[in-house]
Amino acid sequence: MLGRTGVLVSDAMSAEESIVPSNFIRNRVEADVKDGKNAGRVATRFPPEPNGCLHIGHAKSIVLNFGLAKEFGGTCNLRFDDTNPSTEDMEHAESIVEDIRWLGFDWGENLFYASDYFEPLYQMAVRLIEMGLAFVDDQNAEEIRANQGTLTDAGTNSPFRDRTVSENLDLFARMKAGEFEEGEKVLRAKIDMSSSVLTLRDPLMYRIQKGEHPRTGKAWSIYPMYDFAHGQSDAIEKITHSVCTLEFRDHRPLYNWFIERLELKPAPEQIEFARLNLTHTITSKRKLRELVEGGHVSGWDDPRMPTLRGMRRRGYPPAAIRDFCEGVGVANRDSVIELSRLEYSIRQDLNKNATRVMSVLRPLKVVIENFPEGEVDELEAVNNPEDEAAGTRKVPFSREIYIERDDFMEEPPKKFFRLSPGREVRLRYAFFITCVDVVKDESGEVTELRCTYDPETRGGDAPDGRKVKGTLHWVSADHAIEAEVRLYSHLFDCEDPGELSKGPEFIDHLNSESLEVIENAQLEPSLRDAEPGHSCQFERLGYFSMDPDSTKAKPVFNRTVTLRDTWGKVLKKEKK
Ligand code: ATP
Ligand code: MG
Repeated sequence: MLGRTGVLVSDAMSAEESIVPSNFIRNRVEADVKDGKNAGRVATRFPPEPNGCLHIGHAKSIVLNFGLAKEFGGTCNLRFDDTNPSTEDMEHAESIVEDIRWLGFDWGENLFYASDYFEPLYQMAVRLIEMGLAFVDDQNAEEIRANQGTLTDAGTNSPFRDRTVSENLDLFARMKAGEFEEGEKVLRAKIDMSSSVLTLRDPLMYRIQKGEHPRTGKAWSIYPMYDFAHGQSDAIEKITHSVCTLEFRDHRPLYNWFIERLELKPAPEQIEFARLNLTHTITSKRKLRELVEGGHVSGWDDPRMPTLRGMRRRGYPPAAIRDFCEGVGVANRDSVIELSRLEYSIRQDLNKNATRVMSVLRPLKVVIENFPEGEVDELEAVNNPEDEAAGTRKVPFSREIYIERDDFMEEPPKKFFRLSPGREVRLRYAFFITCVDVVKDESGEVTELRCTYDPETRGGDAPDGRKVKGTLHWVSADHAIEAEVRLYSHLFDCEDPGELSKGPEFIDHLNSESLEVIENAQLEPSLRDAEPGHSCQFERLGYFSMDPDSTKAKPVFNRTVTLRDTWGKVLKKEKK
């Protein structure tokens, strides 16, 4: 595991965490329930802003919030935080709904929008003005920033800070009525320009925005700032535990200030946790949008993206994503988790659940000289060695087959146990074959192998007990289905492209080899009726999932994850 600064936290620690994930938030909630706080009621929410698609970081928050509700017999609301009409749209809201369902969570009737609360929020603002706790400021954004002060120096009061209540009420009503232009006026809380807590220096509550809101249309020309809307929306929904990420810690005093002055009860308890960051990818919607809009990926659902749509298309099972999110625990300091840890969860799941097939990615033709032309032998193959109930299937064998180009070497080095001239190997579930000749084209490239087979070895073992060192996967040339296969690897070539110091240059760290397309892979014929979304293991190659780009004539398969399992090795070492 990497610390946020790139310092390697010991693997021993991360391995331990994966066995007993610590979750201090869960412990806090449990203690509250025991103490009878809110009469033992637990209400959480997941509050996405509909300005992009959900990513693995959001999955973590979803698993946490819905998980708490489930464990303590409470509720978890889905609330769209749609207070900024210039960046939000309904398509993203719909995609978020679909993604959370896909991940396996359900909010029942509890779907809300911050925009449902525009009227009560407006009334709250009016009450604060009446109490002398808010004022309309004519300073522009630049002036407000200039008067903000610094960590060491107090800010300067706005020259409009001492407007009378009636003047403020009048101006705010006229802001609402659309009399002023964007940026001309804002509503600010009147707190303390010298507070050591910067968020308490007369923070903005409302701004003028003239665009159309996806849900409320042109009804409003003023919109609440996130900081004004968020805590009160929680209070309106009677959220007991308002779980959010660390960057909101500094905003907590402000949320509490609003809740206390407005006497909203019960006050939601805000608990912050560290964002989930993964190596070799980014978890910032803004940066992900840059990848999409810059054409660096094919869309939000590009299988290389850390979005739920991308992972779904890549073939990640939702249960494996949930396991991963639970397994890494909940921390209160920033860290970066190795992507291989997510991949480990994906493999664990697919190893149990994915059926095995034999497919050849880079085909090399093999003619079995002593196998009768036109004849087909149906051999029995195991669907999933991890699950006996998955049964067996028939795989056709014939005179011409394909093997993997890599599985043959004309002049093999010492440790190469696969096929080479004169060498005998096993074809999985089929026969022993021996290479008797190598056919090449003018350029010297091997185009075909001539082999003989031993009919006595049907099923894959020799009755005389002789052994072979290699077992190859294969597919019958006449029966194979040609397919496009997309091989993915890390989207970025460095571990922490999202690190702040790397700023806008994160694009420069895109891995130029993150996608390799194979046009003429040869698939086992049992995949004939597979549908997009179908997951399977191509034996010896990895886990693959059928892409929606597939056509009847040419299926497309995405490599979900390779078979190699480095994180598993780390875990095993730790257990010893
Ligand atoms: P981004 O920085 O990607 O735009 P965001 O926080 O602005 O993320 P929201 O739509 O506001 O995106 O997020 C909804 C919820 O998901 C928030 O409660 C937020 O704290 C949480 N969340 C976002 N990113 C992560 C992450 N990487 N890890 C854990 N929780 C996250
Ligand atoms: Mg946000």
